[in-house]
Amino acid sequence: MLKLYNTAERKLENFKPLGEVVKIYTCGPTVYSRAHIGNLTAYIYWDLLVRVLKFNEFKIRRVLNLTDVGHLVSDGDEGEDKLEKGAKREGKTVWEIAEFYSKDFLKNFRALELAPPEVIAKATDYISDDMAAVSKMMEEGFVYETSDGIYFDTSRFEDYAKFARLDLSGLKAGARVSFSSEKRNAADFAVWKFIQPGEKHAMRWDYLGRPGYPGWHLECSVIIHKELGEPIDIHAGGVDHIPIHHTNEIAQTYAMTGSSLARFWLHCNFITIDGEKVSKSLGNTYTLDDLSSRGFSAMDFKMWVLAGHYQGTRNFTFESLAAAKARRLNWRNKIALLYQKNNINNNNAFDRIIAAVNDNLNSPEAFSVIDTSDLTMEDWQKVDELFGLNLIADTPDVSEEIYALINEREKARAEKNYARSDEIRDELKKQGISVEDTPSGPVWQYL
Ligand code: AMP
Ligand code: ZN
Repeated sequence: MLKLYNTAERKLENFKPLGEVVKIYTCGPTVYSRAHIGNLTAYIYWDLLVRVLKFNEFKIRRVLNLTDVGHLVSDGDEGEDKLEKGAKREGKTVWEIAEFYSKDFLKNFRALELAPPEVIAKATDYISDDMAAVSKMMEEGFVYETSDGIYFDTSRFEDYAKFARLDLSGLKAGARVSFSSEKRNAADFAVWKFIQPGEKHAMRWDYLGRPGYPGWHLECSVIIHKELGEPIDIHAGGVDHIPIHHTNEIAQTYAMTGSSLARFWLHCNFITIDGEKVSKSLGNTYTLDDLSSRGFSAMDFKMWVLAGHYQGTRNFTFESLAAAKARRLNWRNKIALLYQKNNINNNNAFDRIIAAVNDNLNSPEAFSVIDTSDLTMEDWQKVDELFGLNLIADTPDVSEEIYALINEREKARAEKNYARSDEIRDELKKQGISVEDTPSGPVWQYL
């Protein structure tokens, strides 16, 4: 039985799909710059979720959106439009920016062996649906017009504060300074923005007799309505989405359909880098290419991510990435030696691995089982399927001679005969194999 922590209820619950197919929606990126390792962390965990559901023999329909229509730099309705910002930075059109970074984002998906979602929904393909949704909310009296857009009246949705357990009175006091005088309540948010005469905004659509564009939160409610139908089984995103983005999605869906949005809400925590938040100004928005130029593969990074729990706080350092890389090498070494050893051990290790991930996606626990068990070749195949780590594909064959040398070196080390173990290391080097002693034990690889 799969157990997941449901943020909406703040507790672990047994997962049961509402229908025959598990309907999943994962909020996607704004495609105006390259995805950094913080963003990618979220999608690695949602890939784990999908893979674990598949191991539980559920059929899945997952939708991922790409926010290719500009939304503002803050989660609220202020600041610069992200795509306009990207276009200015690179001297391109917003459309070119969206196209380039959408492709770039999906390249990461392939590099990380993330299972492709059944539907990849570009926000700009749903503009007429957005308009229909705003019209519907208007009809139902959930939105009102100001000089700069159509706003959701949060006081019309009784449960607005419930999901995120918001203190709306506190919000009002804190937001008073930047509180637009035309907004009825501090938490009200734009579902549609008008473009003022003279205002530069390349992406624009005519609606209500004036040019404008949808508010950011709208696309998720609209895409879910069209591609999945609410309520869906699982809605996932980063913890940053709880107080504003997901709260607003829930409100819009209620206004549009009278339905709840999702049965389970999953949120992954944010990673920090060297103890700091991931931010352009700190120069730590590493991409997979940045890791690669330092000698780490996409799989090494995935290994680092899955070594921690999706709800835990994680601090990324290059030392911890090196440890993840060594651990992956260590696993590959075990696989390589299996070809020679004909391991027929069966200690139900894979059952323990599945039990760990079925317990709220506890990948770190599953990894410890892998470290400490004698897995069979069949187990490793399943490990690869469960985590998408390409372990077997990246494992080179070893000859009997090399196998013997590696084993002899381990024996020499166990006997503290370091002179002999160094001699064997040199011999292996001549055969094109390097050996390194790491916290995961000695790991070897072809040079
Ligand atoms: P964005 O393009 O900013 O909407 O981010 C895309 C996804 O990455 C969202 O689900 C965020 O929650 C997630 N995300 C952004 N930064 C981090 C981080 N430092 N750690 C984990 N997830 C993050
Ligand atoms: Zn969303």
